[in-house]
Amino acid sequence: MLSDIKTIVFKVGTSTLTYENGKLNLKLIFALSRVLSDLKNSGIDVILVTSGAIGAGFGKLGITDFPHDIPARQAAAAVGQNELMFIYDKFFGDFGHTIGQVLITKEDFEKEDRREHLLNNFKALLQFNVLPIVNENDAVATDEIVFGDNDTLSAQVAKLIDADMLIMLTDIDGLYDKNPKECDAHLISFVDEITPEMVDNAKGSASKLGTGGMTTKIMAAKIAKDNNIATVILKGEHPDNIYKILDGERIGTYFAPRKKDNE
Ligand code: GLU
Repeated sequence: MLSDIKTIVFKVGTSTLTYENGKLNLKLIFALSRVLSDLKNSGIDVILVTSGAIGAGFGKLGITDFPHDIPARQAAAAVGQNELMFIYDKFFGDFGHTIGQVLITKEDFEKEDRREHLLNNFKALLQFNVLPIVNENDAVATDEIVFGDNDTLSAQVAKLIDADMLIMLTDIDGLYDKNPKECDAHLISFVDEITPEMVDNAKGSASKLGTGGMTTKIMAAKIAKDNNIATVILKGEHPDNIYKILDGERIGTYFAPRKKDNE
């Protein structure tokens, strides 16, 4: 079944892309660019939803106490987004791939005509063999129009383009049955049904610079599942593990897609 995969949406979080001080983790971004380029070489359509703009912006500005007010975060995003894209352009370019930046606001999904324009854009980019790199347009997004987390955004993108799989790269091995800091916590490797208890257990797991956490990842997996898309939550530290997922190895947490009525 995994060999049938044609389109994968990847989401990578701030805590994976940046060091604690907000500076970009170039070793990680290089390895990720190599693996995604290779998947593209193999014929898979790849879309990357990236966080890290705000973190990289604060990092570049040398601000380490990470303010929470919206104008400061907007300014950081304006600085960090092009820092991020510069690095992606360089690394993906080294591996022979052209990237395209797609900055999205929530309205682009809510209004039918805008959703259609967005889909047409993705289709054209993929047709031109471009690897689209998506983020929320944080420099202009304010409270009312904001997704706020790229987990939800990545699930919406996966739904829009009818992807086969959503892979969320994060700073933890996957979903645990209780707080992963507790010594008797176990990794859940396969999820068939998303229960309210799972959502409850995952509360309060957001990182310092990212806005999501395990709750938003589970909610994203639910959007994907309802649209018959498989989701994997995987530690992003070693991007080569993505190959293992595609070889059918059980690492991270795999959320099965919804079963079709006749199955
Ligand atoms: N869009 C935000 C950024 O690029 C990240 C949102 C998130 O952490 O999910 O910094």
